[in-house]
Amino acid sequence: MGDQQLAEILRFKSILLCEGLEVSEDVIQAIQKVGIQFDMGRQGGAGPAGGRYFKFSNGSMVNTPLYRAPYEYATYRLKSISPTYEVQLESKEDKESKESKESKESKESKESKEDKESKESKESKEDKESKESKESKESKESKENSKIPNNHPPITLIPTPGFYSQTNEEEIPYKKIALMHGDETLATTINQRCRYWEGNQQCQFCGLELSLRSDATIEVKSGKQLVDTIGIARSEDSQYAKHLTLTIGTTPTQDKGMQEYLDVISTIRQTYPKVPIHIQIEPMKDMTWYQRIKDAGANTIGIHLEILDNDARSKICPGKAHISKETYYQHWDHAIAVFGKNQVSTFILTGFYKDLNQFKEQLREALSHGVLPVITPARHLNGTHLPPTYTPVADFLEILKFTAKMCREFGSDPTANKAGCIRCGGCSPLIDAYRLQDGE
Ligand code: SF4
Repeated sequence: MGDQQLAEILRFKSILLCEGLEVSEDVIQAIQKVGIQFDMGRQGGAGPAGGRYFKFSNGSMVNTPLYRAPYEYATYRLKSISPTYEVQLESKEDKESKESKESKESKESKESKEDKESKESKESKEDKESKESKESKESKESKENSKIPNNHPPITLIPTPGFYSQTNEEEIPYKKIALMHGDETLATTINQRCRYWEGNQQCQFCGLELSLRSDATIEVKSGKQLVDTIGIARSEDSQYAKHLTLTIGTTPTQDKGMQEYLDVISTIRQTYPKVPIHIQIEPMKDMTWYQRIKDAGANTIGIHLEILDNDARSKICPGKAHISKETYYQHWDHAIAVFGKNQVSTFILTGFYKDLNQFKEQLREALSHGVLPVITPARHLNGTHLPPTYTPVADFLEILKFTAKMCREFGSDPTANKAGCIRCGGCSPLIDAYRLQDGE
């Protein structure tokens, strides 16, 4: 794939991540009529507030939030999805200009017949020719306009997996145990409780316990339940569950949930010795856990700082902010020594900085430790404490290009990551930006 196409995918993926898509009820019904199971997608749980997953022609995935119309921040709205899942979007500006053209045409058609006839009779041959030439111009313009809604890289909808409608031997729906993020990553939160929710100290963007309250999931997932879910997912599509993302709320224990991970991973490894597994954790007290969890079978680890600026971090993540940035740096360094280069990551949310250059400086400092960042725009999720938060697409692209450059400077390579959010790329176009830079 050429640089031009990679650049278009990077740009469009960034638009979808930063702005999401507007969707109207009529369009949802029309999509359902062609036999596609379509809803607004994941509304809580692990990772940034989800929606639906779309795929670009080069395999890159995007976890796109969907917002009911009218939604002023989205440039694009969903227009249709074909029975073979090709997605058609339209730029709202294009639609508005089309509507205004249609309204003009409709006004013209209201001209009285008499007026029209009288007008026509007055038309000289030359006038007629000039009208014909105008019509031909309009038809050309209209053809060009009709291309505008497709003026984005082609994307397809990732269909809702069939196993979501099945239940396991305990009669628990599989979709309450784990979900497909994109078409390769099976993801779950192994314990859906977090100590910070109890004292209202949770991260403002987090939807962890919301999905529990809405009965979208179960509180704790066992290794056996996950083994069964991997099995049913793979039997439906061999692409499914190629790698796993396991996350957890912060437990009120010193190990921060490492023992729970160890039990789950040990069970998965008995049936699936090779499936790459990613886990996510907050820095714990006893750093020997990194080696123990690696030995149990975890391949990659995310230790999520979330927000670079300390003041914003204390406000947005009041519970987690008691752990200093320096502690994160120590844990990243140690985890890289255990898991290896390119296997340690951190979520970094955009949308909270006041000064982009300062953000880049802070990012550079973090990346100098060799950690890979899942750079993603913060998104508002209904029911959370986070007010609507928006990252301008131009800023996001600048940050991504800078990050890709920093990765090279510090010898990090996101394409070498074995499992989880960096490999998935649904929430962050880091790999897209890195590949593009490769060609520069
Ligand atoms: S990057 Fe992928 S696996 Fe991670 S939260 Fe986003 S969609 Fe899920």
